[in-house]
Amino acid sequence: MKQNPLPAELPGTDRTRHRRLREQGSDDRGALDAILGAGFLCHFGVVVDGHPMVVPTVYGADALNLYFHGSVASRSLVAAPTATVCVTVTHVDGLVLARSVFEHGVNYRSAMIYGTPRVVTDPTEKLAALRCLTEQSAPGQWDYARRPSRKELAATVLLALSLEEASVKIRTGDPDDGDGPDAALPIWAGTLPLVTTFGSERPDAALPEAITAPPHITARVGTRLG
Ligand SMILES: Cc1cc2nc3c(=O)[nH]c(=O)nc-3n(C[C@H](O)[C@H](O)[C@H](O)COP(=O)(O)OP(=O)(O)OC[C@H]3O[C@@H](n4cnc5c(N)ncnc54)[C@H](O)[C@@H]3O)c2cc1C
Repeated sequence: MKQNPLPAELPGTDRTRHRRLREQGSDDRGALDAILGAGFLCHFGVVVDGHPMVVPTVYGADALNLYFHGSVASRSLVAAPTATVCVTVTHVDGLVLARSVFEHGVNYRSAMIYGTPRVVTDPTEKLAALRCLTEQSAPGQWDYARRPSRKELAATVLLALSLEEASVKIRTGDPDDGDGPDAALPIWAGTLPLVTTFGSERPDAALPEAITAPPHITARVGTRLG
């Protein structure tokens, strides 16, 4: 990701100020960029017709915005530009297994972004945003696969959410009961790392044998996500 033109320190607004487990909070925009750059799935939270909806969806991130896309019939995306949304991106790095159940937890990196998204209508910006979304999950595919047709573009709603108002939390390390009375218990404690990796590519059953996977896809086999 490019050098970020937004302030290096994340803003402490009423919404983003950490309250509980503050020691896990970070105000470093670089940490936010790293979390967003390490994934492509988020949870998009918005109130639709008076009810909260939290929708798992893919995103693209550049230095200034998160981008989301979907059908023009998507209720969450259509409602979003008239509402405040809260988007979360989470990477789980492992289980934290303490002596006591109370101290169990997870090691993680997570971000929450707040704001009111705008609908991207400019055709050039819409294509750039779709490129960003595509490349976030599958780098190299934008130049490889067929680009969207006019009809497909018209059927797609594209939203941009500013990254100005965001918060980050990160937990690393051992369980928290290693220096308390429970440390004397004969109970194993530690962490169990969790890693997500890409498996080997599987060709579509309808694919002619002569068409083999391009290098930008095979290069990801065995690589780690997050
Ligand atoms: C995978 C995962 C599992 C978790 N499981 C638990 C659990 O079981 N129990 C539990 O108590 N906590 C858990 N947490 C931590 C949880 O996300 C909250 O940080 C914590 O519970 C404080 O919540 P709160 O409602 O008191 O928020 P507050 O401290 O009131 O939140 C204030 C502000 O801090 C920011 N903030 C809070 N949490 C996060 C976050 N995770 N990432 C980025 N910004 C944040 C938001 O902007 C929020 O508005 C988990 C986190 C992750 C990533």
